[in-house]
Amino acid sequence: LIYRINITVLGAFDPLQDVADICERHNLWMHVDAAWGGGLLLSRNHSYKLSGIERANSVTWNPHKLMGVPLQCSAILIREKGLLEACNQMQAGYLFQPDKLYNVDFDTGDKTIQCGRHVDIFKLWLMWKAKGTSGFEAQINRYMELAKYFYKVLKKKDNFKLVLDAEVRTLSFYVEAYLLVKFPFNNIYIYTQIAPKIKAQMLEEGTAMISYQPCGDKVNFFRMVFSNPATRQTDVDYLIDEIERLGKDL
Ligand SMILES: *Cc1c(COP(=O)(O)O)cnc(C)c1O
Repeated sequence: LIYRINITVLGAFDPLQDVADICERHNLWMHVDAAWGGGLLLSRNHSYKLSGIERANSVTWNPHKLMGVPLQCSAILIREKGLLEACNQMQAGYLFQPDKLYNVDFDTGDKTIQCGRHVDIFKLWLMWKAKGTSGFEAQINRYMELAKYFYKVLKKKDNFKLVLDAEVRTLSFYVEAYLLVKFPFNNIYIYTQIAPKIKAQMLEEGTAMISYQPCGDKVNFFRMVFSNPATRQTDVDYLIDEIERLGKDL
């Protein structure tokens, strides 16, 4: 039985302690999908948002997202030692031989889902060596500050509508908003075409690339996820100006 509590595109954090209490009471497997959010664990200021993750049976975490490791680098972490190996191990005689002249405990082949594919985690290891935990922490803290800045600038503008217009929004590195354009009549079908149209124009002109999507009853909105260490406040200002500029021509 899988309960999906939050909607990924809103970048919200589930109350993991409460989820863990329920899982414990009913003896349920607790899996945390921290594909994006897991990166916040590297920041002492923001890791509390994942409080309770330590009680999970399994966690997914994609270092190729918030940590900025080049694609692909996805990890699944299982609490119970040996479980993944027991489930996954095939002991295929044509692939792995146990009677080697060294200690085969160090062979990763039969222990990972990757089998014969790249050792993707090596990229994370190299990056961690280069940046250090403090380097990752500074990076994550900056994303959070940029998201807060973006949110504050948009909030002051009356031609943008924030999808989640609440202070809680500043807890995430996501900001979702759409541009309000005046039309002679109020047609939701026309409204939902605005973000795709602006995105297409940005791509054509080569100025910016930002994703959009609908969510429930909301029209297509832009979803800005801060995950590039090169992004600065001036880029945020530029992006807003660009959306406004292209919106004028619609
Ligand atoms: C990206 C993402 C996934 C998919 O992860 P892959 O490693 O690309 O399969 C799953 N869940 C969430 C919340 C994501 O953001």
